[in-house]
Amino acid sequence: MNPNYREIKEHLQKNNYRLTKQRKLILERILSNAPITSTELCRLCMPDCDRATVYRTISIFEKIGIILRITLGWKYKLELSDQFLGHHHHMTCLSCGKSFDLKDLDPIEKNLIELSKKHNFQIISHQLEISGYCKDCNKKIREHVSDH
Ligand SMILES: [Zn+2]
Ligand SMILES: [Zn+2]
Repeated sequence: MNPNYREIKEHLQKNNYRLTKQRKLILERILSNAPITSTELCRLCMPDCDRATVYRTISIFEKIGIILRITLGWKYKLELSDQFLGHHHHMTCLSCGKSFDLKDLDPIEKNLIELSKKHNFQIISHQLEISGYCKDCNKKIREHVSDH
């Protein structure tokens, strides 16, 4: 089981939510598949939870800061919040939709802190999402181009 699991359970209880059987299942699916779209999450939770339950649970988890939305254009994926997963960013493939974690952004993170000081701005959160083509899709695109 994920090491964050117990912490998340405590966090729910602190906010007066019980870890029901359905919430537990949804949480487990998020933990093992994140970042995940809500549509995909619904699919993985069927037939144990219906869509309404999944969406209701997502909104509870978001409200109390267990999960967050990674915005990708007009779409979004769900992932554990920084509190439980640690702060990081993603690169997402426009072709196959896979997301890759980016963890070594220290120079950029430091720059942001510098910039916020310069502008006297207190940053609460920031998002940096990178889209493009992964290695496999890039290869397919190039092969496709050279076919012509
Ligand atoms: Zn791809
Ligand atoms: Zn960051």
